[in-house]
Parts: sequence; structure tokens; C-alpha cells
Amino acid sequence: MASVHHAKEILDALEALYGYEARPASDFRYEEPLDDLVLTILSQNTNDRLRDIAYKNLRERYKSWEEAADADPEELKEVIRIAGMSNTKPARIQQVLSDVRARFGRYSLKSLREWKQPEVRGYLTSLPGIGSKTSAIVEVFDLDMPAFPVDTHITRLSKRFGWAGEKEPPDKIQCRLEAELPKERFRGAHLNFLAHGRGICGARTFKCAVCPLASWCEFGIKASADGAA
Ligand code: SF4
Repeated sequence: MASVHHAKEILDALEALYGYEARPASDFRYEEPLDDLVLTILSQNTNDRLRDIAYKNLRERYKSWEEAADADPEELKEVIRIAGMSNTKPARIQQVLSDVRARFGRYSLKSLREWKQPEVRGYLTSLPGIGSKTSAIVEVFDLDMPAFPVDTHITRLSKRFGWAGEKEPPDKIQCRLEAELPKERFRGAHLNFLAHGRGICGARTFKCAVCPLASWCEFGIKASADGAA
């Protein structure tokens, strides 16, 4: 049975390596949470570089979210094509914009700052194509609420630490980590995990021999016993 063991040691070691917990929340917050929600939709199944180009194209082509909502779907498709999933993302973005306008009377999610977190998650995950990971990103970075988004890197690391079963889906892992990790560390710890997953502990390349987490990580302990790392 998977359990979140040695959480403090692992979080402390990651913070010593990457230092995101020490950074202020304002470094990562979008004043308008809807901006980050659209950015996160663009990030689905692509990398940060292509997501950022698509977002820049989008903001340059349309002066407001209203213009993007009313844009010709074929044109919008071309504007953000570089982010991939061009049969899905343009329609998803326009549907989300339209739902937000219908709910709040404007293209803004700032009112969510006044809501309780379970209601926020319930609302955001009711939008088309928005799951608990995307909702958690907006919650923790833009709304200053405790959430721990679990993406592909955090799924992989959780399995390697022994915090999650091999076949466990990310949303189940997210539930466990949100229940068991210290809430006040969520934002920075999430970013530290991403940095580790993009660097030392990649999907195919993992450097257990130089990793300061190796003595708490089930995969690292096994790799070291096998002489594989
Ligand atoms: S010990 Fe190895 S598997 Fe574990 S976190 Fe470090 S690099 Fe990844």
C-alpha cells in the first residue's frame, strides 16, 4: 500500500536544490486567473516553449478575451496551431470563455477569490476539458488556495518514491498528496518537483547516484542495490 513517507526530508532536500518555496507567490500569480486558465489549456500535451508561443500569438491577435471568444474558429485554430490539438483546443478555449461570460457577466475569474475552495474546484472542473490538475494550478498560483497539481512529472516521482501505486491515475495521487503534504508548502514544493522531474529524475534518464533524495526514494534505493544508477 503506497504511503507518503519521508515527506519532510524529501521536500526539504528539493527546496535545498531548487529553492522555489522561498520565492514569493507574486512571482507566479496572474492578476487575472482566466489568463492562467487559458494558458493551462494551451499547455495540454505540449511543452512550455510551444505553449508560450501560442499564448503570445493569441494575446497579440486578440486585444481582449471577448475578441477571442467571438473569433472565427478557423482563424483561432491557425493562431494557436503551434500548441497542437488544433481540433480540440480552439473550441475548448471558446467554450470556456463563453461559460465564464455566462456565469460572471464578464471575461474574468477574479470573483473566485471570494469563493470557498471546494466550490472553486467544483466550478472549474465543470468547464469543458478542465480536470483537477488544471483547476489546482489556478487555485494554488492565482487564487492563493492550497492545491497540489499532479502532472506527468509528479506522477512519475510519486511512483518512484513509493507514494503511489504503479497504476494509480494522477487525480487519485493528487487527492492523496493534497491530504498528506503540508499545505503551506504546496506552491513551492510543486515547482521543486517539476524542476527535479525535468532535470535529475527524468522519465528515461535518472541520476540516482547524484540525487540527494536517493536514501528516501524506493526506486533510488533499489537502483543503488542493483548497482544500476
Ligand atoms: S533517487 Fe533516482 S529515482 Fe529517486 S528521485 Fe532521485 S533520481 Fe529519481
